[in-house]
Amino acid sequence: RRASADEKSKIEACSREIDALRESLRGAEESTLKDPLTGIGNRRLFDTAIRKAVDESNARRTPLSLIMCDIDHFKRVNDAFGHHVGDEVIRALAGVIEANVRETDSVARYGGEEFAIILPGTTQKVAKEMAERIRRKFGAKSFSIRKTQQKIGQVTASFGVAEHRPGDDVATLVQRADAKLYEAKAHGRDRIADFGERK
Ligand code: GH3
Ligand code: MG
Ligand code: MG
Repeated sequence: RRASADEKSKIEACSREIDALRESLRGAEESTLKDPLTGIGNRRLFDTAIRKAVDESNARRTPLSLIMCDIDHFKRVNDAFGHHVGDEVIRALAGVIEANVRETDSVARYGGEEFAIILPGTTQKVAKEMAERIRRKFGAKSFSIRKTQQKIGQVTASFGVAEHRPGDDVATLVQRADAKLYEAKAHGRDRIADFGERK
């Protein structure tokens, strides 16, 4: 009986170890998809999520929208106040985006101060309204340096919105949202550009 009790406790220990390893593997897997600065998805998560969303939209003929967003004149923020402050501004935008999207949307830091929001089941009209809310809330924030109380003031962002069209592949959709973002920048920043109402 004693031998079998020993065996039992060994098995239990092994099982606990397996659980712990499983948990740490899950954590490691998760962290490969996360942007360390903001805690939202990274480019890798974006690539996977957009592929899945485009496939689904093509297969089921459901709407899908993509928002690309880039902070305006961000170099000036870095140059005037330093990278640390720039990082805070990036975090703040990530926070506003996260707070204003739905469970089914995927948010990712696409590049340095550029974000992407994938909105499955969403028309361009609704996506534009969501982008508008994010733009307004982020632009209304007033930044300052906590330690010195130095005022940084407001920072804005520009947005490009595109809706998936039947047969579109990932690159086509991303390019269209990107082109719209570029247009928003060219038209004066702190705004949203899209393809207008669908006829
Ligand atoms: P625009 O309105 O045209 O977007 O002007 P911009 O100054 O924002 O231009 P651009 O998008 O080219 O500049 C991006 C800058 O963001 C350049 C780079 O130094 C900075 N940047 C990229 N990643 C980070 C980061 O993680 N932290 C900080 N603080 N800065 C970053
Ligand atoms: Mg920028
Ligand atoms: Mg940029």
